[in-house]
Amino acid sequence: MNDFKEVSESYTLPEAIREAQRCLHCKVPQCKKGCPISNDIPDWIAELAKGNFGNAMSIINARSNLPAVCGRVCGHERQCEGNCVLNKKGAHINIGKLERFVADFDSSAGLTHETIPEKSRGRVAVIGSGPAGLTIAGDLSRLGFAVEIFEMEPEPGGVLMYGIPEYRLPKEVVRREIKKIENLGVVFHLNSTVGEDLTVDNLFAEGFDAIFMGTGTGVPRRLNIPGNNHPGVRQAIRFLRRVSLYESGLIDRKEVVIGTGDKVAVIGCGNTAIDAARSALRMGASEVYVVYHRTIDEMSALRAEYDDAVAEGVKFLWNSSITNIVGGEGYKLKEVTIDIDGTPTVMPMDNVIMAVGSVPAARIVSTTKGIDVDDKGYVLTREVPYGMTTRQGVFAGGDVTKRPATVVHAMQDAKRVAEGIAQYVDAVKLMESINLTATPAKPENA
Ligand code: SF4
Repeated sequence: MNDFKEVSESYTLPEAIREAQRCLHCKVPQCKKGCPISNDIPDWIAELAKGNFGNAMSIINARSNLPAVCGRVCGHERQCEGNCVLNKKGAHINIGKLERFVADFDSSAGLTHETIPEKSRGRVAVIGSGPAGLTIAGDLSRLGFAVEIFEMEPEPGGVLMYGIPEYRLPKEVVRREIKKIENLGVVFHLNSTVGEDLTVDNLFAEGFDAIFMGTGTGVPRRLNIPGNNHPGVRQAIRFLRRVSLYESGLIDRKEVVIGTGDKVAVIGCGNTAIDAARSALRMGASEVYVVYHRTIDEMSALRAEYDDAVAEGVKFLWNSSITNIVGGEGYKLKEVTIDIDGTPTVMPMDNVIMAVGSVPAARIVSTTKGIDVDDKGYVLTREVPYGMTTRQGVFAGGDVTKRPATVVHAMQDAKRVAEGIAQYVDAVKLMESINLTATPAKPENA
């Protein structure tokens, strides 16, 4: 297992149309109810069933800025597909795979061309270009705002580019989606770290009317296990980032640190843990264990991801915790003690990867006055205008405002924040124009 090629295969055109024709076009579509961004699923599937690919794409575009991404990495089994009425007959519509087909087909055939509205409603700076930042940028751009994104990495995409492995979400797909957002007139500033190279106050001074923080959660949580300071203990999000950089040819193989033939234990059982486990196998690990302190029914990973991991050879230890880590030479461990169902078991292990969640970095809030956070560092926001922080004109959304969620939940939140920003900027500009009109004219000889 050393291949990062995309795992799941796409539909051919006849297969996609056949699948779309199975849809009942329900009057009260449960699939749409299950979609966090209320995608008009039956409508675009109906267009697809008739072979109207451009229409299908336009309907999807009205709700989603990242359909090729969502079609691949959304939790369809718990959302649209899990709600499809055809589950009762044992075969839901494969909505995710159809969405991916429409988005890929549209990109390769160049079917839809959106008209870019005049950017006359105001200027918005977006910090971070993960799913939340890209969604805000796409939505506000379509509403007539001039949007500029400030991204600390050399390439935009955030977690989509550096956190989700190539075999689940190819980088080319992310680049294509970003190009579409760029085509809406969004400007990208790369290698640009707000909180270091420039501040929120600098952005206001440059004339932005509102600022959106979509900076996600970049600081991994660490479990307090004896021996966890050894360099053989790594953080999943950093490991995945290195794998991603290696796959893009930007760093050497040795910098990925998991060696060929290594034994690896991953702590946690969310999607990041499964991504780390499957990536470790692809980097040549001989044995990979996912160690989780609860049961299979309590894991937050998608069932489909778990099934694929099992098929690839990842082993799962339920009701288990690592209680001790013994370091070896250099970057390798010697062994770990795993408490499995109450029985301590010593196992030889070269690496431990922690995937137990992450919290926001303090880079922006520590360099900006007036942005309040909770005791874990999540940014506090208001309901009206939706998403505004305790600092006027600064908005936040996605993972930086709450516990890490999925790509589509970050998008769902960002869509509401985009509406909040639009309302806020419109109101400020209206007040400014009223104040200007209300200012008494100076006497001519004053
Ligand atoms: Fe089609 Fe299933 Fe949605 Fe009904 S619930 S409209 S069958 S996808």
